Amino acid sequence: MIIIIGNGISGVTAARNIRKKSDEPITIISAESKYFFSRTALMYVYMGHMKFEHTEPYEPHFWEKNRINLKQTYVESIDTDKKTLSCSGGEELQYSKLVLATGSKPNKFGWKGQDANRVQGLYSKQDLESMEVNTEGIKSAVVVGGGLIGIEMAEMLLTRQIEVHFLVREKTFWSGVLPEQDSKFIMKHFENHHGLHMHYGEELDEIHVGEYDNRKSKKGGSASLDTDVVYESTGAVGITTKSGQKIDCQFVGLTAGVSPNIDFIKNSKIDTNRGILVNRYLETSVEDVYAIGDCAEFTEPVPGRRPIEQVWYTGKFMGETLAHTITGNRVKYEPGYWFNSAKFFDIEYQTYGDVRSKLQEGEAEFIYQHPKEDVLLHFVFDATSHRFIGINNFGVRLRHLVFNEWLTKEATIEEVLQDLKSANFDPEFYATYESDIVNQFNSQFGTNITSAKRKWWQNLITS
Ligand SMILES: Cc1cc2nc3c(=O)[nH]c(=O)nc-3n(C[C@H](O)[C@H](O)[C@H](O)COP(=O)(O)OP(=O)(O)OC[C@H]3O[C@@H](n4cnc5c(N)ncnc54)[C@H](O)[C@@H]3O)c2cc1C
Repeated sequence: MIIIIGNGISGVTAARNIRKKSDEPITIISAESKYFFSRTALMYVYMGHMKFEHTEPYEPHFWEKNRINLKQTYVESIDTDKKTLSCSGGEELQYSKLVLATGSKPNKFGWKGQDANRVQGLYSKQDLESMEVNTEGIKSAVVVGGGLIGIEMAEMLLTRQIEVHFLVREKTFWSGVLPEQDSKFIMKHFENHHGLHMHYGEELDEIHVGEYDNRKSKKGGSASLDTDVVYESTGAVGITTKSGQKIDCQFVGLTAGVSPNIDFIKNSKIDTNRGILVNRYLETSVEDVYAIGDCAEFTEPVPGRRPIEQVWYTGKFMGETLAHTITGNRVKYEPGYWFNSAKFFDIEYQTYGDVRSKLQEGEAEFIYQHPKEDVLLHFVFDATSHRFIGINNFGVRLRHLVFNEWLTKEATIEEVLQDLKSANFDPEFYATYESDIVNQFNSQFGTNITSAKRKWWQNLITS
């Protein structure tokens, strides 16, 4: 039996793709939930845009039809000599091949008060349920950690009229990933959000714990909570930052990054570092044991990429790749060019190729910022050959397929700019502003390019 620990995007993709090629029994184990759900949609459940069941892409009969057995239990340990797993409740399971797809867990850094009530991260279904309870009737919250999950949490809280104090350790937002100008552009956008108080260059020192009965503070009396999480009145009542600033609050969100969820694997013979160590075939140090998704750490990372990739599509792609290997066709993980997307409130962000927070040696950049609208395009290219290296784009959506082609064919920045309309989803925007973009580039770099008609990549566009 093939056993997969973890029913997130990577484990479920592996299972579905193994089933297409093999009849071997497959079991997926997860302690979190019986059915696969979209973690990236958790925020929309809290904000009332969808119900939790709408985050589950497959109907219950899908698993039966595909003969994928689902088991909700916690795996406590792995014996790779006997090829067995010990689960909570004492059950032992035997595997022929084992896939570790155990995801991440929110970071905690030993802050005083970090385990108190109304202090939590945002990762799991249980976190969502706790957040419902913990924020019921409260007035203000502190969110610690300036990344994507933090900003999602802030947005969630603001939709319930809860004041948010957001602590960002660095001087600018998401500075480990975004170049300074991009970061400042987003920071400006945050200023438009009523109730959001950004605190840059501030670190959490301590969480204060005391009494606060949030049900009483809610107009109309006690809340009726559709959840089994037990309400506690003792919990967070404020924080102090390292600079000595005190902020009153009734909820603290810990969103200072995530790390691989691998504690139970550390006592096994499988090699680990920050994550479970794998080669480019997603094979661990032990035969017949593989790791994919957020929990995997490459001993030799894909050139230009990080050893641990904690995004949705890479987990999916690792699952697809591993299914080949497990069914007898050993395939290397070749994810192609980096891309990612996110939303900062109402500004969409995408990145294609390799845009670092600091310009690398031999690189040049061209930044276009729209004078009135919330649009910024940040291009990076080779200073000598002008080969296009990557883009961060904010406020406009650009086509992945087209950028992939440009990167593969090593197009120059001039070729990209001349034909940028091919990559654009919003022709009206380009009809009005593409000449501004091209003119600005010409005056900055002494070139004489013009916007061209669509060329070879036009045919790539299907929608
Ligand atoms: C709030 C939020 C928003 C996000 N938004 C985005 C986004 O917009 N775009 C993007 O690309 N990425 C986003 N991500 C990241 C993305 O969701 C993850 O990269 C992805 O879900 C990881 O998938 P996975 O299959 O590796 O692991 P997971 O989805 O974490 O699944 C692992 C599962 O294994 C279970 N498990 C672990 N150990 C055991 C054990 N011992 N026994 C039993 N079960 C176990 C866990 O409980 C969990 O259910 C977001 C993440 C969060 C938390």
